[in-house]
Amino acid sequence: MSMERRKALLDIASRYDVLIIEDDPYGYIYFGDEEPPARLKAMDSEGRVIYLSTFSKIAAPGLRLGWVAASDEVIRWFELAKQSIDLHTSTLNQYIAAELLRRGVIERNIPRIKEIYRSKRDLMLQALSEYMPEGVTWTKPSAGMFIWLTTPEKIDTGEMLSVAIKKYGVAYVPGKSFYPNEDRHNDMRLNFTYPTPQQIFEGIKRLALAIKEYLSQ
Ligand SMILES: *Cc1c(COP(=O)(O)O)cnc(C)c1O
Repeated sequence: MSMERRKALLDIASRYDVLIIEDDPYGYIYFGDEEPPARLKAMDSEGRVIYLSTFSKIAAPGLRLGWVAASDEVIRWFELAKQSIDLHTSTLNQYIAAELLRRGVIERNIPRIKEIYRSKRDLMLQALSEYMPEGVTWTKPSAGMFIWLTTPEKIDTGEMLSVAIKKYGVAYVPGKSFYPNEDRHNDMRLNFTYPTPQQIFEGIKRLALAIKEYLSQ
């Protein structure tokens, strides 16, 4: 979200007196050219932002550890709710995360993964412009692990998935489930952090073939 949209969101929340949940797993792996916009929580003068983040994207998802910054009242309710779900978060995992922080492991890791992710993003962008047919568009993300791709309206990416997997050996996440009313059908989410550089090129090449097949029908 741009700075203007962030401010507008805080204004609306204030006017209607609602809380905001800021789910920020990717703010720490921002690799855009400009400075990242300030977090909503950093601009929250009324205590209405509940800020969430996680060790999953900067250390290891298996730790199952995250954190929250919110008012004491909200934290108290979180504690009660969490207690009834799992009694408490693994103490051993919390010690491990504390040690990773104390020894600077995470601090040293973040610049490394930023560089790797940025170069993999660039590779995927290059592969997309090389292979994708006319009418297909995509984002150039400044953070995170995914490119959002939009095909011409004619294609239903949910329907195309099984063909992409069976015939072309390539997979993606259909975009539909990212919309509250599931009223869009021609988007997909592509991950660029997990595959190797060769797999990125091969995967995009195959995906372009699947899209071309569907477009020519
Ligand atoms: C990864 C992620 C989370 C947090 O995942 P956990 O492993 O459960 O901590 C939350 N929201 C989004 C959008 C994510 O991508």
